[in-house]
Amino acid sequence: MTDNDDTVREIRINPIVPSESVLVATARGMRPTTEEKRVERNTASHVDRCPFCVGNEDKTPPTIVAEPDEKNWQIRIVENLYPVLGDDRNDAGINFGLQQAIEGYGRHEVIIDHNNHGIAIHEMEISHLQMLFSIYKQRMQQLYDNDERIRYVLVFKNFGEAAGASIKHTHSQIIAMPVIPENVYNEVLNSRNYYQKTHQCIFCSLIDEALTFEATIYDRESGEVRRKIDVGQYVVERGEKFIAIKPFASRYEWEVHILPLKHESDFLNSNDADFEDLSKVLKNTMARLDHVIGGTQYNFFLHSQPHGNACSDCAPSYHWHLEICPRTSIPTGFELGSGLFVSTISPEDAAKQLRDVTLD
Ligand SMILES: [Zn+2]
Ligand SMILES: [Zn+2]
Ligand SMILES: [Zn+2]
Repeated sequence: MTDNDDTVREIRINPIVPSESVLVATARGMRPTTEEKRVERNTASHVDRCPFCVGNEDKTPPTIVAEPDEKNWQIRIVENLYPVLGDDRNDAGINFGLQQAIEGYGRHEVIIDHNNHGIAIHEMEISHLQMLFSIYKQRMQQLYDNDERIRYVLVFKNFGEAAGASIKHTHSQIIAMPVIPENVYNEVLNSRNYYQKTHQCIFCSLIDEALTFEATIYDRESGEVRRKIDVGQYVVERGEKFIAIKPFASRYEWEVHILPLKHESDFLNSNDADFEDLSKVLKNTMARLDHVIGGTQYNFFLHSQPHGNACSDCAPSYHWHLEICPRTSIPTGFELGSGLFVSTISPEDAAKQLRDVTLD
């Protein structure tokens, strides 16, 4: 339903995870929620008390990886001081009736993204981001190789307390776990179903749609034009090998996904040239987000093909991607209880605002 050209009120189903839906209601005053506070970023390059800053290496668990070396590190991986999963125990899972638990086995590590305390992603050099992605890849591969029980290695980043970051120094995290996270598993299952029906990757189809989609929606009774959807209206940023798109239906109002243009299910198959272009697209996308909703707390999640039997056949159907999820509002009881997320800005409009930013 639309009241006029600018107002949208509709429930949109996420095409990749149909159990997820979003209520897009752009009329003024629709938002029943509280805005998430924006955090003042400490832009200091060094903070004496910060355990992740240069000179305080003895305040963290021992270094696992340091690039280029321990003395002059630009990126460092250390074990998480408070791991959610650990590899120190060896008991099997617990079974009781219908209740099953898999032992919380795994690894939880922190990647200190940069030796500069307060630098933001969009301020980092392309070459630095390229090195960061290649370290993600190297460490993910090692974690899969070290233990065959690992089903998924998740790399993610939090910025701001609402997004779960307790330490302000720029960092990401890596968790190797014995189960596939539900949202990734849903993507795997649904994209596999779609592939079985159409012999196409649903992510590739969505990229094609984002690049070429053009539609006019007419009113069923009067025949009047209700809404026109323009070419490329979901595209936020385009590189040679990667594209950033605003999903047609997503949980977070400013959520942006970055995907390789050429089909590839596994992040681990990417090379340095891929990472260079990915870094450019990520840097520009983050600069656009910073310009429009600066100071917003956010997460990004790297979704790649899980390893092991559950996904041995999903190379043609799954497509790896980076999900950037800015937290602009606190979910309401309605959203948490119904699973129906509310968006007061239309994804088309959000994409346009991001695209319209002039980058220097
Ligand atoms: Zn620091
Ligand atoms: Zn694909
Ligand atoms: Zn995903």
